[in-house]
Amino acid sequence: MSLALSNKAKVVKPSSTLAITAKAKEMRANGLDVVGFGAGEPDFNTPDNICQAAITAIQDGFTKYTPASGTQELKEAVCQKFEKFNHIHYEPNQIVISNGGKHTLMNVFTAILNPGDEVIVPAPFWLSYPEMVKLADGIPVSVYGDQANSYKITAQQLQEAITPKTKAVILNSPSNPTGMVYTRDELEAIAKVVVDNDIYVVSDEIYEHLTYGDAEHVSIASLGEDIYERTITCSGLAKSYSMTGWRIGYLGASSQIAKLIGSVQSHATSNPNSIAQKAAVEALTGSQDSVEKMRREFDTRRQYMYERVCAMPHASALEPKGAFYMFIDLSEALSMSYKGEKLQTAARFAEIILDQYQVAVVPCADFGYDDHIRLSYAIAMDQIKVGLDRMEAFLKALE
Ligand code: GLU
Repeated sequence: MSLALSNKAKVVKPSSTLAITAKAKEMRANGLDVVGFGAGEPDFNTPDNICQAAITAIQDGFTKYTPASGTQELKEAVCQKFEKFNHIHYEPNQIVISNGGKHTLMNVFTAILNPGDEVIVPAPFWLSYPEMVKLADGIPVSVYGDQANSYKITAQQLQEAITPKTKAVILNSPSNPTGMVYTRDELEAIAKVVVDNDIYVVSDEIYEHLTYGDAEHVSIASLGEDIYERTITCSGLAKSYSMTGWRIGYLGASSQIAKLIGSVQSHATSNPNSIAQKAAVEALTGSQDSVEKMRREFDTRRQYMYERVCAMPHASALEPKGAFYMFIDLSEALSMSYKGEKLQTAARFAEIILDQYQVAVVPCADFGYDDHIRLSYAIAMDQIKVGLDRMEAFLKALE
């Protein structure tokens, strides 16, 4: 057959975080003892009270269509959470519940972009942002945060990147892959540029509950009326409540944007899973003790990983302040050789460490940095220890 397929679909790269995780799982299924620092997926079970709410939903027959943009009950729970935790006021008609954080973001770009609109994507970026922008006919424009500024972009860099075609900037704090957190002052400066230039902020706050030490999560929409109007605040349940498989994401925006997104979703997927929505109500309104317990465990792992990586040869990292990732600079290691082969790229580093040392890491070319890797510390402590021992052995074997 010679029928042409969609050019738009053809330029999208498959998600390498998911591919690496799948490969590590496959190697494990084949009996290999692989340590997976790949996808950011908490290793904890979903808390019992949340699971119980889902079981009750099934037993009560809450298994039918709900309104396409989510139940009123869950929208109200999301509004309360926005009010209490993020200090942002949204009404239920400003909320859309979707099938996970990714779906929420994809809906946003579909609703705000016209062909040729530019979206500023601070780099390093979570690899799906540019692909989503392209799928929605937009043009992703990378702006590199300086390592000396913890890889965060400044308000001035944002201003310089804005053109008449700029429609939005993406913010992701705490950040995947760096674990860096924007301060209130930094966000205020960025908000001013956004308002002065009249663009949108797509604020992906999926890691909002995971901050450590003195880092504070600040929602940019909470900083004033002008920035509130221009912000689409996105989040989800996956990371904070260990609910990756349940697929519940949500956003708060102007009622006009929420309505558009609700219409798109009504054709694309209908409602998110009814049972998962009931579970999400319990997650947001029930006890938050398990969230804090998981956060503390991530913090312990973070500190351990940071100390270990700092002590390794040919690698360096900044101390992450949020999320559950460490972004590791391998520029020195990549100029070296393993068994006579010069490594050159983080992709090759990742291939060798997986094949020879059974450690899965994420090479970050798709995150905008081909000399960095990302490790997730959302895996058990004993696995972290074994994996870091192996990584250290690999780095020591370089010449
Ligand atoms: N967001 C997680 C990560 O970056 C899950 C995998 C994915 O969707 O990319 O690892």
